Amino acid sequence: MPKAKLAAALFPNPLPAPEDLETRYPSRNLPEGARVTRFAPSPTGFLHIGSLYTAFVNQLTVRATGGVFFLRIEDTDKKREVEGGVQSLLESLAAFGIVPDEGTVRTDVSHTEEQGAYGPYTQSARRDIYQAFAKALVLQGLAYPCFCTEDELSTLRDEQGQAGAIQKGYWGKWARCRDLPVDEAIQHVQSGEPWVLRLRSNGNAEKRVPFTDEVRGKIEMPENILDAVILKTDGVPTYHFAHAVDDHLMRTTHVIRSEEWLASVPLHLELFRACGFKPPKYAHISAMMKSEDGGKRKLSKRKDPEAAVSWFARQGYPADAVLEYLMCLISSQFEDWRKANPAVPRESFPFTLKKMSASGALFDLVKLTDVSKGVIAAMSGTVLAGQATVWAREFDPQLADILAAHDGYLAQILAIDRDGAKKPRKDISRYGEVREYVSYFFDELFKSELPLPDEMTQENAAAILDAYEYSAGDDKDAWFARIRELAVRLGFAASPKEYKENPGAFKGHVGDVSAVIRAAVTGRPNTPDLWAICRVFGEERVRGRLRNAIDRIKK
Ligand code: GLU
Repeated sequence: MPKAKLAAALFPNPLPAPEDLETRYPSRNLPEGARVTRFAPSPTGFLHIGSLYTAFVNQLTVRATGGVFFLRIEDTDKKREVEGGVQSLLESLAAFGIVPDEGTVRTDVSHTEEQGAYGPYTQSARRDIYQAFAKALVLQGLAYPCFCTEDELSTLRDEQGQAGAIQKGYWGKWARCRDLPVDEAIQHVQSGEPWVLRLRSNGNAEKRVPFTDEVRGKIEMPENILDAVILKTDGVPTYHFAHAVDDHLMRTTHVIRSEEWLASVPLHLELFRACGFKPPKYAHISAMMKSEDGGKRKLSKRKDPEAAVSWFARQGYPADAVLEYLMCLISSQFEDWRKANPAVPRESFPFTLKKMSASGALFDLVKLTDVSKGVIAAMSGTVLAGQATVWAREFDPQLADILAAHDGYLAQILAIDRDGAKKPRKDISRYGEVREYVSYFFDELFKSELPLPDEMTQENAAAILDAYEYSAGDDKDAWFARIRELAVRLGFAASPKEYKENPGAFKGHVGDVSAVIRAAVTGRPNTPDLWAICRVFGEERVRGRLRNAIDRIKK
């Protein structure tokens, strides 16, 4: 039994039997049609918006079928791992509503907490499981150790180049260790030479493998012919092998992942077949694109700050807005559906993988900003103030201190033209804009400027401010009537219409008069409802601002 000897030399330590693993992780008992999907990030500490998108699609497809969505940590590349990466990943995902049903749920320095019966869900804790299946492949002659050094491999590629090989890499007659006599291989192993384990591919470059991608439809690609590495020299599996073993044992029904893996599907199908596993369904999600100079390119971690999910949090886009926007990318029909169903949770949108675009989702910040304005406009003053305060505590501590010194004030401010309004203003697109939006309400932030209407002279403005008497007791009608009276008294028309009919007869119209008052109180030419603003200020502060403006003019 030479193969058994080789397997024993390669894997001297006791390993579980593959049959026992099959029993330990039985088929899931789920209703017909329920899907099992996963999000499988590497703990690099960086979450790309494209990864969030993929995770979101995974979760959505499960929620639509009553299945299971789990999180698996792919930490086989220890070089890329960042301390605390897993915990920060979990937190970023949770902040954007991605909460897996199973998998790693919490980590700290000494401890990883998992949920679910198909674990461990961290690849570094599954070493024996991969080795068990690798050993089974060796026993069947479907995998073999390779002792080639990096130098030998690069010489091989040069030789292939010169000989015009149909494909570069370790395959067929170029695969030197493929037909090494077993005894020789055992000797190499026993003398302590490093080895990797390779699949003994029986693919044929002339043949094609057909498969159906859930997003892209029917696809055909040449069969895999490479004797791909399945275990690295340290015994850790490659992505390809871990994918086959994990998604089989965790009973994943749909592998929804980024399109960068599409080209590897022939290898993956061969690995599933070699291991005796039924392959999952695949859905390859297009990369997130950005338009640039009339063309399209991938959103890049290096060039585009918005490639990082953390950027959206820092800017203060509500998570809900980001998710609503991602829905628009997932389906071109979502926007119409949303208009018809403004208050329905997005999970109820009839979502299918098949309708997703295969050509690349174009990430458009202008569109996100627009969606976000709609999401913020639907918040009450109290809710928006709460969210903005939480944001400020993390990203603008100076503002947070000011808000804390005026408890409840921000909610009052933000209620203006919002609470109870038929068409709430869509003028805030992210919490990061709240500071500027409300700055004139806070004496600490107010920049006293006096932007007067074009035709208004300083003298007329001073006369208006001198004569105007603000009374907090006035309702809106009485308040405006008082301004109109004042306008007429000072030689302004009582309405823009009247002014237009006979411009020579007036200094301006009532709108110009309120513009002066607005400028004095707020320092701005445009604001939400001035009457409501003055009520929030209170009589004394309004009068103070009016006086300051007069002093400014007279100085
Ligand atoms: N760890 C892989 C990645 O981050 C997972 C790909 C997959 O979903 O299978 O690209």
